[in-house]
Amino acid sequence: MQGYILNINKVRDEDLIVTILAQDAIYTTYRFYGARHSNINIGYKIDFELETNLKSNIPRLKDVLHLGFPWLLNHEKMYHWQRFIKLFYPHLKEVEVLDKFYLKLLNDIVKKIEKQNVKRAILENYIKICEYEGRLHTHYECLLCDMPIEDEISVVRSFITTHPKCSYSRSYKIEKINEFFEHKSLINFTNSEVETLWSVLLEGL
Ligand SMILES: [Zn+2]
Repeated sequence: MQGYILNINKVRDEDLIVTILAQDAIYTTYRFYGARHSNINIGYKIDFELETNLKSNIPRLKDVLHLGFPWLLNHEKMYHWQRFIKLFYPHLKEVEVLDKFYLKLLNDIVKKIEKQNVKRAILENYIKICEYEGRLHTHYECLLCDMPIEDEISVVRSFITTHPKCSYSRSYKIEKINEFFEHKSLINFTNSEVETLWSVLLEGL
């Protein structure tokens, strides 16, 4: 199987609980410390096998092969990628059966990061998750006062829309946010605006 490491918890000496997003599920696995083990980290894509044991309800993680990215040694890209991947753990923690949409999306982002600014690549794809999960609203009403938004618009956690004056947040032209939501494009956003959107993303998926 292949998947992305969402979370790693140390238990006992060097043993680890490793949470993996794979095509059809989020797996919580147990990794014994051993002489032959490849280095793993949050955000890594791995090929792996699971061994179920009657004595434990957590399958054992084995035969781990790290599938590297071309930009793995680019610290900036890796740092932001890891911050993004970490958000999936609380977001999907309770989910057992997963749609293949998530693995495919992460694969797409990894490819996009190769050629594109890392934050832009992630944000433009993140908005597809909001849409997929039915959380992306393009009728543009304000979360706080329920009134329609007509010109200036803000986004708060999970890219929910508000009036800038209601949430005291950064204001954008509604056409730009619409382009982002409908066409998943940030081409007309300045780097400073992308930074602000990035901090909204880091509040949680
Ligand atoms: Zn409002």
